[in-house]
Amino acid sequence: MPRVLLLLPTTTYRTPDFLEAADRLGLEVTVASEEANALEGKNPEGLLTLDFREPAACARRVEEFARRVPIAAAVGVDEQTVVAASAISAALGLPANPPGAAVAAWHKGTLRRRLSAAGVPTPAHRVFLRDEDEAAVSARVKYPCVLKPTFLAGSRGVIRADEPGAFAGAWRRIGRLLEDPEVARLGGKLAREILVEDFVHGAEFALEGLLAGGELSVLALFDKPDPLDGPFFEETIYVTPSRLPEEEQRTIHRVVAAGARALGLCEGPVHAEVRHGVSGTWIIELAARSIGGLCARTLRFGTGMSLEELILRNALRMEIPTLEREPVAAGVLMIPIPRAGVLGEVRGVDRARSVPGIAEVTITAHPGQRLVPLPEGSRYLGFLFSRAERPEDAEAALRQSHAELVFEIEG
Ligand code: ADP
Ligand code: CA
Repeated sequence: MPRVLLLLPTTTYRTPDFLEAADRLGLEVTVASEEANALEGKNPEGLLTLDFREPAACARRVEEFARRVPIAAAVGVDEQTVVAASAISAALGLPANPPGAAVAAWHKGTLRRRLSAAGVPTPAHRVFLRDEDEAAVSARVKYPCVLKPTFLAGSRGVIRADEPGAFAGAWRRIGRLLEDPEVARLGGKLAREILVEDFVHGAEFALEGLLAGGELSVLALFDKPDPLDGPFFEETIYVTPSRLPEEEQRTIHRVVAAGARALGLCEGPVHAEVRHGVSGTWIIELAARSIGGLCARTLRFGTGMSLEELILRNALRMEIPTLEREPVAAGVLMIPIPRAGVLGEVRGVDRARSVPGIAEVTITAHPGQRLVPLPEGSRYLGFLFSRAERPEDAEAALRQSHAELVFEIEG
């Protein structure tokens, strides 16, 4: 059986779902992680340590490894690991996104620049350095605007400002986040940058797609029914199928496909976020990865194939029986952290589970855990999943289920 190299950072939520998919396909698996595993010596073919921040070094290390243990595909799960996976694939001669395209999809400044240059609608932007004078910068930008680091994910450090006073506060707050040792280590010299761009009005949608040979197939279009007006941009509910008219859905598909071409993306999953309204269809994000957190669990294809299985089949050029999502509506609610503190007891889980239409309630935070809300935080309390005949019912079930949950937060 072919062997897949899975690049799984220690913080990812996706490990069990990717391992299960690999198992279902009967694949040999090597798991690469950024922290050395004590079992590596006992399982030298199955475990590998890689510094994902250094794609070229990852590629060299895996090239050497693959001389002994042949690798048929390298698959990353988040922004950083898909960049490393594309460098590895290029070194091994495996079909994948060119490394430059993966980097462009990840670095928010490059993403904006490439999309604008190709005429794909994306907010007007400028990358500043953190040590520039914030008063001078705040006098130059247009309002409302959005400030953000160039390399983080999950809305971390993304702040809207409507006037210079709010701009100064946001600028300093992002500066402090970028000084956090872990964030600084992750970003390297990118931790000096702050991206400022126009705020785009409109409803937000997320498109989950799969590229094969440069052709984009839409796996699902999600509505994000909660307004995302800022100042922070907490993700909450995703529901598919979208309730937008077919024609507008096709417009979103077309814009995302043009975006992928502009970046040079051609293989594997894409996760795009667009704002769509009277002013047009605008790409906010176009990542060369699949949907984050545990949200992929909303998606089932054909007779029960997971998104992870689909991604692995595509990477390995295995037959894909269908890209057709199951015929029901499905939704997920990423449970946001309401305030900072230490998680105490979580109550109401059984009641939340028993709400009609709720398929799964997974609390991922654990009692005793220190909770950091947005814009600094990077974790959720957990995930609620629903399935129903109609999208509005899938959405209502999520809201009702969430209302049953009580999170005690101390401190
Ligand atoms: P991340 O990669 O951390 O998710 P994004 O750039 O996707 O960062 O921003 C996170 C969220 O913030 C978006 O989904 C959107 O709701 C909001 N947002 C970001 N930039 C803009 C913008 N220019 N206009 C309107 N909303 C924005
Ligand atoms: Ca995003």
